[in-house]
Amino acid sequence: MADPATAPRRLKVAIIGAGIAGLAAAVVLRKSHDVTIYEKGFMQRKEQGAAIGVAPNGAKILHRLGITKDDVRGVANTGVRVFSTEGHLLNAANMAYEKVFGTEYLFAHRQDVWEALYRAATKKAFGEERLRDVEVLERRGVKAIDPLTGSIQFIDGTSANTDLIIGADGIRSVTREAVLDGKTSVPVSSGLSLYRFTLPMDTVKSLLGDLPPPLSQVEGAKLSVVVPKDRSNRSIVVYPCQNNGVLNFGITVPNTLLNSVGTESWSADGDIAEMKEIFKDFPLWALTLMSSTESLQLFSCYDMDPIPTYTRGRTLLIGDAAHPMRPFQGQGANMALEDAEALTLFDRDDISDEKIEELLRVIDGVRNPRASQVQLHSRIPARNVLDDDGRKRMMFNWTYGGIQHAIGRKI
Ligand SMILES: Cc1cc2nc3c(=O)[nH]c(=O)nc-3n(C[C@H](O)[C@H](O)[C@H](O)COP(=O)(O)OP(=O)(O)OC[C@H]3O[C@@H](n4cnc5c(N)ncnc54)[C@H](O)[C@@H]3O)c2cc1C
Repeated sequence: MADPATAPRRLKVAIIGAGIAGLAAAVVLRKSHDVTIYEKGFMQRKEQGAAIGVAPNGAKILHRLGITKDDVRGVANTGVRVFSTEGHLLNAANMAYEKVFGTEYLFAHRQDVWEALYRAATKKAFGEERLRDVEVLERRGVKAIDPLTGSIQFIDGTSANTDLIIGADGIRSVTREAVLDGKTSVPVSSGLSLYRFTLPMDTVKSLLGDLPPPLSQVEGAKLSVVVPKDRSNRSIVVYPCQNNGVLNFGITVPNTLLNSVGTESWSADGDIAEMKEIFKDFPLWALTLMSSTESLQLFSCYDMDPIPTYTRGRTLLIGDAAHPMRPFQGQGANMALEDAEALTLFDRDDISDEKIEELLRVIDGVRNPRASQVQLHSRIPARNVLDDDGRKRMMFNWTYGGIQHAIGRKI
């Protein structure tokens, strides 16, 4: 009988968590391996949050996964503008993302990105020789894993054995604890929270008539930031999504200004009256729109210090399980896409047990330094997006050619 340590075979892969990271990993790995996704919740959920920026680094990878701008109802971002609460334009940059980075920067709703990835991960594998159907098991929460042997224990008392475990189980990851072998890694509060809501563009137009400059798209869709003079870390970030049919708001507020801050839960319903009171010195158009939302979420922004490794044995951490970050650089989902793309190193048919660990170490050698840097960049709040350092950070974030490029096509 062939020695499993050295004999190549098709791998049995377990992906834990069906967020953006887990689904993107499934799209990559199903090309050569047998993939099962274990998700503790339901699949047909509404993604929490609202829109995200799929920056050039992430958009490039979506395209490689076969997902287009239309698939995510994306809106092409053409730049950034920073306004004072008095309506003065403080700073602006028109950006030719496609020309500079080779890909557009898309504003997209998280639910649309999730659904496009879900379709790509689960579409039937007709006629393609190596492509296999992905098994998706919902309500299969993982209790513990052994990262060295590939065994998994589920909350329901069942277990499974696999060749490769992808830990994509988000910020409160159980797989991270196993990879770090008992070393502590605790989420850290940023001291900031984010109100999130969306409004249909038609509603915005009927409420405001002529759109104020931060909402105007006459010169193309842009990300607008509104900041007060008092440097109080309050800000409004607004941009469109869903084929320009919806406006997305991300409103940063220091926790010290809130009556109550969720410590245990990630998101809670926000209080519209409290938000309006905290932002009463902001423009009237903003307060009018705040009053009109039917659903307001309040996210406590947590992150984590970078961890020394994303891999142990036959297990790899990806997405927020590996590097939860604050939303101020809009890079969490983009990093999750980059992580998933790195798994293309497994797109080969000569993989043995020895090779699994070797490839995971190569991926870790690329992904850990890069995502850790972006994690640290993301601690800088939104008001600094257009200073010199802000531009340098963005260039770093947006410039990434994929795993083969990063390792110099050595594998
Ligand atoms: C307010 C806000 C704004 C943001 N804006 C941007 C942006 O502009 N651009 C950007 O790129 N990113 C942004 N992000 C970040 C981005 O949304 C996340 O980084 C990204 O969605 C993480 O995806 P994930 O799959 O790693 O984790 P998650 O989406 O958390 O998915 C983890 C999955 O694992 C499942 N799971 C958890 N535990 C278990 C278990 N034990 N067993 C089985 N399944 C389990 C969960 O149910 C979930 O489905 C933002 C985030 C927030 C909060």
